[in-house]
Amino acid sequence: MPLDQPGSTGRLFVPAEVYVERGSQDYPLGRALVERYAGQGIPIIEVEAHHRIERLREVPDRMLPRLKRVLVIGVRKSLRILPNNRSADYIVPFTSSGCSASCLYCYLLCTFFSSSYLRVFVNREEIWAAVERKSSRLADPAVFEIGSNSDLVLEDSVTGSLQWAIERFAGLERGSATLATKFGAIDGLLSLNHRGKTTIRVSVNPEEIIRRIEMGTSPLGARITAANALAAAGYPVALNLAPVIMLTGWREMYGRLLQRLEAELSAGVKRRLFFEIIFMTYGLANEQINREAFPNAENLLDRRCMRPKGRGKYCYSPRIRTEAEEFLVNEIGSLFPGAPVRYIV
Ligand code: SF4
Repeated sequence: MPLDQPGSTGRLFVPAEVYVERGSQDYPLGRALVERYAGQGIPIIEVEAHHRIERLREVPDRMLPRLKRVLVIGVRKSLRILPNNRSADYIVPFTSSGCSASCLYCYLLCTFFSSSYLRVFVNREEIWAAVERKSSRLADPAVFEIGSNSDLVLEDSVTGSLQWAIERFAGLERGSATLATKFGAIDGLLSLNHRGKTTIRVSVNPEEIIRRIEMGTSPLGARITAANALAAAGYPVALNLAPVIMLTGWREMYGRLLQRLEAELSAGVKRRLFFEIIFMTYGLANEQINREAFPNAENLLDRRCMRPKGRGKYCYSPRIRTEAEEFLVNEIGSLFPGAPVRYIV
C-alpha cells in the first residue's frame, strides 16, 4: 500500500519527533516513513532498540502529553501468537503498540508506563507470515485479534498497515480478523476488498466520558458515522461498551448513550450487531502517571466502589458491577432486540 493513498496520509497524527530503530530502513515501509517525515522537516533520531530509548525513559511523567507526540519506527521481534478466549481465538502481536491518544484508564500505561507512545512496526510481511503459518496449522478457521496493543485505525493513518492487512485477511482461507477502535478515520477502509473477513468493533462511551477521559480520540458522533459507513461497505460491525466507567450519574449517561445509538445507527449496523461490555480496570500506574501528566483530570480510582484485582490494578466491586450489568443488558435487550451481548468482563 503506497503511503500516499487515502487512509495513510499521516494527517491524523503528526509526530514532533521520529525515532527510528536501526534496521527499520531495510524494509520498504521503514524507508518510506523516514522519507516522509524527513521531507516534512521532522527530526529523525536513530536508536539501537525501539523498546529501549534512554532519552525518552528519563522524561518525567508530567511530560506524557509531549511524549505522546513521539513516533517510534521499529521492527517487531516477538511474533508469538497466543490463545484468547474473548473477542477472538488468538491474539496476534501486530503492526503497532502504544498510541498517540491519552485515555486516562489506558492499560498500556500499566505495561509501557510513559513510553506508551505510538510505535509502528515495519516488518509487516514477517508478521503476516506468522499469521499464515498459524492458520495453516489449525483444524478449524480461527478469529485473530489484531488490535490488542494499539488502535489500528489510528496507526493506519500513519502506515496504511490496516488497509494492507485487511486485504490479506480477505484472502486467508482459514482465518479472519477482529479489532476495536476509538477512531472514526475509516475512509481508507471503505473501498477495500475485505470479503467480510475483518470485524470492526467500534468502542463507544457517553460523550462526556469521551471528552473528559478519552482525550485525543474521536467524538461519539464520528464513531457512529464510522460504524454506519463500515456496515454500508459490508464490514461486520460490533459495538464495545468499553470501558464502562461508573461515574456519578452512570445510569443516565449510559442510558442516553444507548438511546442515541439506537436512534443514529443504521439498519445495516443493527442487522448483524453484537455487543461486548468491558468494565474499567484502573492501575496504580495510571493513577500515578495521570496525577503528574493531567493534574486537573478526575481520579478514576474510586476506592468506595473499587477493589484490588492484583498486580496493582483495581476493578469495580461485585455489587455495583452486578447492578450495572443488569442495567446495560436490559437496556440493550429492549433497544436492540436480537443483538447478543457476546461477553461481559
Ligand atoms: Fe489506549 Fe486505546 Fe485510548 Fe489509545 S485509544 S490511549 S490505545 S485506550
